[in-house]
Amino acid sequence: MKGLNNIDKLPLGIFPTPVHRLDHLSERLGIDLWIKRDDLTGAGLGGNKVRKLEYLLAEAKKQGARLIFTTGGAQSNHAMLTAACAGKLGLRTILILKKRGVTECRGNQLLERLMGTEVRFVDTDDYGEIYAEMDRVGQASGLPYYKIPCGGSNALGTLGYVDCAKEISEQGVHFDHIVCAEGSGGTMAGLALGAKLFLPGTQVHGMMVDTDPFDVITPKLMREAAALLGQSVTVADRDYHLMDVCGPGYAVASPEGNAAVGLMAENEGIFLDPVYTGKAFAGLIALAKEGAFQPKERVLFLHSGGAGGLFAVEME
Ligand SMILES: *Cc1c(COP(=O)(O)O)cnc(C)c1O
Repeated sequence: MKGLNNIDKLPLGIFPTPVHRLDHLSERLGIDLWIKRDDLTGAGLGGNKVRKLEYLLAEAKKQGARLIFTTGGAQSNHAMLTAACAGKLGLRTILILKKRGVTECRGNQLLERLMGTEVRFVDTDDYGEIYAEMDRVGQASGLPYYKIPCGGSNALGTLGYVDCAKEISEQGVHFDHIVCAEGSGGTMAGLALGAKLFLPGTQVHGMMVDTDPFDVITPKLMREAAALLGQSVTVADRDYHLMDVCGPGYAVASPEGNAAVGLMAENEGIFLDPVYTGKAFAGLIALAKEGAFQPKERVLFLHSGGAGGLFAVEME
């Protein structure tokens, strides 16, 4: 299968994901609120990484890899989904995870146990060391291997969210705003580039759940992904909007995020997570309160998943 501009892509999820209005929350928040259900991407327990992996694992296969490496924290949704998608392709996965977060057999760790995924913890936050460890383990295995960066957020992975913007453009409803979580950057950059290409008049808001320099990362990934599509884009400030919703730290629950998780669960029966989507939705609510959305404007919230980690969090 081929994706945008004839780039190799594997069908790993079930697309298009649904777009629907949140009637009850629209009424409660006084805005026209819709949701894009990328929690229902159809692999693992769903989530945004499946779209990126369709490109990344196609490239891995093309290069002849038999072993896949990736990294993240102990409860990385991306790591779990990489193992789930690679497994479907008959590829072996070794996860080299940072010893951060819940390392016991709960949440995504439990799901990895069920899949028989090999998990190794390293006591470092230094990606240089982590990628060097992948090379050591990969070379020792004797198998051809492929390394996927944290969050799948390189130019190739970013194309998955250019696809998503195109998909939204084909679903028949115009949105004035799209709001998503930004953790490693690929989702936001892909949507912002995709909006430039396929969604004229749509503004994309990235809710930063980590403290990385997303004002540098976002336009860089947009330009690099555009180059893969054979396009040279100039990224202007108005092409993307960032808001800090990180609170006490990455993967540390915030009161606003937890309240947003509760609000969505109570009013719509949809489960967000405290690390990404809850904080992102809290950002959307803050924008609504500031009057950032005009009365007639339609707002789309990207539900990017996170169900796996939900069973390994402590909430007040
Ligand atoms: C990884 C992740 C994100 C953030 O996406 P990035 O492309 O890494 O910025 C958002 N939500 C969930 C549930 C995730 O697992």
